[in-house]
Amino acid sequence: MLNGTDRSALLDVRGLTTRFATPGALIHAVEDVSFNLSPGEAVGLVGESGSGKSTVLRSLLGLVKPPGRVVSGEVLFRGRDLRTLPADELRRIRGGQISLIFQDPVNAFNPSLTIGEQLRRILRLHRAEAPVGGFDREIERMLARVGVDASGKLNGYAFNFSQGQLQRIMIAAACLSGSPSLLLADEPTTSLDVTIEAQVLQLLRDLRQELGLALILVTHNLALVAELCDRVLVMYAGRLVEDGDVYSVFDSPKHPYTQQLLRSVPRFPASARRVEAISGSVPDLTAPAAGCAFAPRCERYLGAICDSLVPALAPAGSAAQRAACHLYTCQR
Ligand code: SF4
Repeated sequence: MLNGTDRSALLDVRGLTTRFATPGALIHAVEDVSFNLSPGEAVGLVGESGSGKSTVLRSLLGLVKPPGRVVSGEVLFRGRDLRTLPADELRRIRGGQISLIFQDPVNAFNPSLTIGEQLRRILRLHRAEAPVGGFDREIERMLARVGVDASGKLNGYAFNFSQGQLQRIMIAAACLSGSPSLLLADEPTTSLDVTIEAQVLQLLRDLRQELGLALILVTHNLALVAELCDRVLVMYAGRLVEDGDVYSVFDSPKHPYTQQLLRSVPRFPASARRVEAISGSVPDLTAPAAGCAFAPRCERYLGAICDSLVPALAPAGSAAQRAACHLYTCQR
């Protein structure tokens, strides 16, 4: 579903707004972000550094820390607003029904506890009863599923494992310890080398299919979105500026920012097209523009209306695409 209230949605985010109050400045990190996600659907959240995509992910799960604060919006997961749940209930959902994997697997584990002990704690949190055969047997089964031979290694610490193994262990903990229906992944392969990245991608693809997991993938890597996702959400300066299925957006982007972003990605053969950097710099999030934040960099700038009115997401071209641009709100 591209817009409106969808009662069948697994996740329905409405008007999410998150700000960071630093001494002397208020950073408008996420502004009025709304989207929904169907069961089993995979959505890529893309944009330049500082566009707010990782903050959206943390805001969904109540993981924004002071001086940041979600100031408004609803995060409806299976119809219940996560923002209004008691803390212990939210903790049970986080990790049980909604799992999160991070960019840096090394820092995701406590260096002073064995990997086995950390996985036992996670399992105890999410399983009402001890698994048949005991916790360690279950952990070995989980790790075998993600391609890590755990025999004799559960007493090892994070530093005894490679970066790729730790990423697989984190994926096992996220996907196999509870019964998640939604996986949130924040740049999950950025810290890995290319061959390990391909293996981890395949693992994520297999687990999604096997478990019927919906996915929100935060990344700056558009190729990853093309590989893993059904739909793409493009963010600029804390706002969603384009929403559509992957084929439509990559084939025929509607928002001028998405168009320029796609032209800035190298493709092969290199001679097919020149790579073009987006001119100008990202806007100051402490002083939001009165109109479209992309106006100073936009090739299709329309004049006063772009400077004075924030464009709303509107159908753009096809039923499968929306863009927040006056090209579609004024000239339809
Ligand atoms: Fe460009 Fe105006 Fe559209 Fe913003 S609203 S992207 S400035 S044409």
